[in-house]
Amino acid sequence: MAYTKAEILKILKEENVQFLRLQFTDIMGMNKNVQVPASQFEKALDGEIMFDGSSIEGFTRIEESDMLLKPDYNTFVILPDALENSSQGRVARLICDVAYPDGRPFPGDPRYVLKRQIEELQKLGFDNMYAGPEPEFFLFLRDENGLPTTETHDAAGYFDLAPIDKGEEARRDMVNVLVAMGFEIEADHHEVAPGQHEIDFKYADALTTADNISTFKFVVKRVALNHGLHATFMPKPIAGINGSGMHTHLSVFKNGENAFYDPTAEYQLSRTALNFIAGLLEHAPGMVALTNPLVNSYKRLTPGYEAPTNIAWSAANRSAMIRIPARRGVGTRAELRMPDPSCNPYLALAAMLAAGIDGIKRDLTPPPPIQRNIYQMSVRERRRHKIRELPGTLREATAALKKDKVIQEALGEHIYEHFIQAKQIEWESYRTSVHQWELDQYLAEY
Ligand code: GLN
Ligand code: MG
Ligand code: MG
Ligand code: MG
Repeated sequence: MAYTKAEILKILKEENVQFLRLQFTDIMGMNKNVQVPASQFEKALDGEIMFDGSSIEGFTRIEESDMLLKPDYNTFVILPDALENSSQGRVARLICDVAYPDGRPFPGDPRYVLKRQIEELQKLGFDNMYAGPEPEFFLFLRDENGLPTTETHDAAGYFDLAPIDKGEEARRDMVNVLVAMGFEIEADHHEVAPGQHEIDFKYADALTTADNISTFKFVVKRVALNHGLHATFMPKPIAGINGSGMHTHLSVFKNGENAFYDPTAEYQLSRTALNFIAGLLEHAPGMVALTNPLVNSYKRLTPGYEAPTNIAWSAANRSAMIRIPARRGVGTRAELRMPDPSCNPYLALAAMLAAGIDGIKRDLTPPPPIQRNIYQMSVRERRRHKIRELPGTLREATAALKKDKVIQEALGEHIYEHFIQAKQIEWESYRTSVHQWELDQYLAEY
């Protein structure tokens, strides 16, 4: 919805809204917000609310800590009563861009990074990139102190029904809240692992989708809490069963039409589609730190759990990093299967765009698609098909990002530097701790 300032003020008044949340994310993708009461609504809409950015992860230095929040009117929505405690007054939210006091965009704002990549694509004559995510998550029980456990509350599997699926009630509430907030939900279902769920919402332009993913994570966590459960987007909370991914369907439009579709071409995929796929394959090592940013992300990317480990594309096989769903025409798209929902959606989508744009600019051609199950290929066969492996750890992923100038440039110096530094600290902390596995393996025996 496109609103004007006057329209929003009118709705706020008519609907008796008491609070406005001004939302943004930090570099790690954490939702942040500054809340203002009714007396400040006009000022907030004018983008004049100032906040101290110095304590936000990767934001600013002390001497430049004052930041402005510039709301995007298109993101205005009143939060449903099921989400916010209405006895304290109704709450609305606006997603904001972050700016310096003089109005210049702040380069540490992930939303700005994504906007810049969209502009790059538009400079090449395209309308936009469209993205449709499939976020998966686990619902876990909380202990007597309210802390999350890894105990699942159900014994259901793929597409199972209640009463085995006790999470279904919570999931339905999530869907209701999301629909009330304007989401078009396409499907929701139980996933393969016990306690694992998926809710799919309709694809949209890249910026809207990134905003939607942020909102989605907030809603899912909040509604789970209302049900006494904990929702987690941690990619691999339990070893030995499926982890949570966030397959992302991508297409590029030009003059209102899907530029990936060419009815006369091989696979009915246009040159643009092949360029884009080739770019994603080429930059996969460099962008995986953004699409899969945690130490734990790489425990999901292991063979046997429907998550990719190899850099390949396929017209149908689900073991490849990129699958091309059968739909053609306006629905022609590439499904990128390695991202997980712990990513910062703005940075992850910006990296995908940068990779695809590079493929288009350099007119890259992908190797032939692999039609077989890659998990079942020998090392030699994979080598013959020139299938590279995805980085196997966060350390390998950051090392690959350090070599990828295209992705670095897309992030910009500010975010790149902060991101690399944070990931190095995360890795060192992991590497130097002693894990339960080591104790189980070694303590008694040595
Ligand atoms: N959970 C799987 C993953 O980690 C995906 C399963 C599916 O949606 N087919 O990617
Ligand atoms: Mg799915
Ligand atoms: Mg799924
Ligand atoms: Mg999928």
